[in-house]
Amino acid sequence: MADCIFCKIVNGEIPSNKVYEDDNVLAFKDLNPQMPVHILVIPKKHIESIIDLKEEDEKLVGKVFTAINKIANDIGVDKEGFRVISNCGQDAGQTVKHLHFHVLAGKKMSEKIV
Ligand code: AMP
Ligand code: ZN
Repeated sequence: MADCIFCKIVNGEIPSNKVYEDDNVLAFKDLNPQMPVHILVIPKKHIESIIDLKEEDEKLVGKVFTAINKIANDIGVDKEGFRVISNCGQDAGQTVKHLHFHVLAGKKMSEKIV
């Protein structure tokens, strides 16, 4: 999608600090990290948010989570643990309208919303 920052990262128009890539999924470091480890994992396909997922995207979402599993193992947070967050829409404060999963790790998280 022309005006989407994350699509521009996917096609190389905007640089990113990549940590994982395959045919369908890209992961890169968040520009403004909120934790010692803060990685964004996205499908390369432009989908705005969870609410815009179609049945045909089921396999793709599975691939995103398989990638998260691999990344967690690769960077060594599989034992200590990590948190995955996807902000969807206005009330959740979604700022980039391309589906993404924040992977947060690297210290004990004291605040829990849920
Ligand atoms: P959200 O608020 O859930 O939509 O998250 C968007 C995230 O994208 C924020 O944590 C931003 O810091 C991050 N972000 C925005 N632009 C970039 C970029 N060019 N490279 C890496 N992360 C970015
Ligand atoms: Zn996009």
